[in-house]
Amino acid sequence: MAEFCLDCWNKMNHTRLAEEDVILSEPDLCEGCAEIRPTIVRYSTRREKSKARRREKRQSSGSS
Ligand SMILES: [Zn+2]
Repeated sequence: MAEFCLDCWNKMNHTRLAEEDVILSEPDLCEGCAEIRPTIVRYSTRREKSKARRREKRQSSGSS
């Protein structure tokens, strides 16, 4: 499977995804720019993000 960094992914797909919109892997060889950069594993959905935020809030608020 081809691996692309965020910049190359956006160029190829004509998207403007930010780092928080995707799940990035450890630095790996990007097949677009041939540099070692974090590559996209998959999209991060907004549902997952909101769930994660709720969990963080619950954890930080502690036991009341
Ligand atoms: Zn690249």
